[in-house]
Amino acid sequence: MPVKGRIIVSEKFCKGCELCVNACPQKSLHLALDRITPRGYHPAEVLQERCTGCGSCAVVCPEAAITVYRQVVQRAESELLIAA
Ligand code: SF4
Ligand code: SF4
Repeated sequence: MPVKGRIIVSEKFCKGCELCVNACPQKSLHLALDRITPRGYHPAEVLQERCTGCGSCAVVCPEAAITVYRQVVQRAESELLIAA
């Protein structure tokens, strides 16, 4: 069954450590070098179209800054599940 993912990174908590970047099997994360968080870090940014919603990034994030959503596509219908 095809699965699409989507994540939200809280820039309030992200400290730009890149653990999520290295953990993503889809290579869909990088640091946004054009932005600085309120705490002075480059935040993690995602290429949403590559994300499968595997949750690896959220598991390794020391700041719990990532929320993962998985969308299970079944025929013409879809269902939104909160995975982490
Ligand atoms: S949920 Fe998985 S595929 Fe999506 S950004 Fe995180 S590690 Fe990458
Ligand atoms: S692991 Fe968490 S704190 Fe580190 S860059 Fe990714 S989102 Fe930011």
